[in-house]
Amino acid sequence: MSAPVKKNDRLTVYIEDLTHDGNGVAKIDGYPLFIQGALPDETAEVHVLKTLKNYGFAKMIEIIKPSPDRVEAPCEYFSQCGGCQLQHLSYEGQLKWKENMVRNVMQRIGKIDAPVLPVKGMEEPWQYRNKAQIPFSTDEAGQEIAGFYKTKSHTIVDMERCLIQTGEADVILAELKKELATIGISPYNEDTHEGMLRHVVVRKARATGEVMVVLVTKKKKFPKAEEAVATIQKLVPNVTSIMQNINCDKTNVIFGEETLNLWGKDVIIDTIGDIRFEISARSFYQVNPIQTEVLYQQALDYADLQGDERVIDAYCGIGTISLFLAQKAKAVMGVEIVPQAIEDAKRNAELNGFTNTYFEAGPAEEVIPRWYKEGKEADVLVVDPPRKGCDEALLTTILEQRPKRVVYVSCNPGTLARDLRILEDGGYKTQEIQPVDMFPHSTHCEAVAWLELV
Ligand code: SAH
Repeated sequence: MSAPVKKNDRLTVYIEDLTHDGNGVAKIDGYPLFIQGALPDETAEVHVLKTLKNYGFAKMIEIIKPSPDRVEAPCEYFSQCGGCQLQHLSYEGQLKWKENMVRNVMQRIGKIDAPVLPVKGMEEPWQYRNKAQIPFSTDEAGQEIAGFYKTKSHTIVDMERCLIQTGEADVILAELKKELATIGISPYNEDTHEGMLRHVVVRKARATGEVMVVLVTKKKKFPKAEEAVATIQKLVPNVTSIMQNINCDKTNVIFGEETLNLWGKDVIIDTIGDIRFEISARSFYQVNPIQTEVLYQQALDYADLQGDERVIDAYCGIGTISLFLAQKAKAVMGVEIVPQAIEDAKRNAELNGFTNTYFEAGPAEEVIPRWYKEGKEADVLVVDPPRKGCDEALLTTILEQRPKRVVYVSCNPGTLARDLRILEDGGYKTQEIQPVDMFPHSTHCEAVAWLELV
């Protein structure tokens, strides 16, 4: 295809869709033009910036007919910060778009005709994140800054608040940088690899109100640690844990291997439903606890456990879904590739007094076939894979072993549709798909699919 438009053309276009980055898409004789800030169902005058063989980019000059769902983005940093993509779309509009997106992807990629239900969204889609990872640095004038990164970059947008984070994270964002010079702590500079304070991670357990603050430092020797602790206690009076994590490497990975306790407890305790979880500085934990409960409840409803089932939870992380299922099942076996997460899962099972759970570290596609060989069978199989979806070998095992029900929790509708097609071709039928909005104002959408062997 050769581009039907060229650089510097001005034209009026109709926006049909949104990309994963939140850019509007217009089609000129089938040729996609990506337009930052444009929304579906808008007509806009645009200026072509760049054309490639199969697609191009344009800048919005004027919105001629705005989307009925367009709103003023509530966050003052929205146009610069890479954290949210959809604040210019009303929350209702976001949910509608996500529902259509999931439905279209199911049909286009998987030819899946099961009903896709309206997205379960949040009543109050703000301040939902329970973990803020805030990079600290200095600007060109040497002034301390803290904020979040611009889209696809490591440039920090200096900010005072973030509307999707907790109040405790906002205080750290706005106030800690102002205190650093007085305390005598220098923020880290990624380019020169100098300075002490790299990131501050704030985690909050919604249910108990416990707060952990983790200072990620470049060196283990942290001369002003006591002063830093006193300052954090002053800024966040409800803090229950202050930790230091050491990351000496020239890397953009946030955490290093070693974590030390500076003050208070090593963990915070949160609950999802009736289940308690211990969260340490580095442990994986879902970032939207309110919607996590909605998601897991949906998985539990679809699993429809009567009490005598054996269940496998593949890609189980710290065992959050496993423990939810264990309340209703005869036995749950969880498998996860990260050994530390399996340690957390075992501890969480013990903390809650479960005796019907078993966890093992390893690749699901190798461990589960072995379980079947050892006679450890399952009536219901739950999978919650990363974005790339299920490993093919795992899907093959499912088709060979034929558990009567499969519940597929997915963070990527594209790979979900692909895997559902494989399962349908092998004898399963998708009954229903329930999308859940775990990340309001982003383009991400989780979904739970329910399949029965037919
Ligand atoms: N169910 C958990 C975590 C889901 S995220 C929860 O709800 O919290 C997906 C998980 O799959 C991650 O923890 C990741 O470490 C794990 N993972 C990735 N590849 C894997 C594999 N091949 N086998 C088992 N687990 C894997």
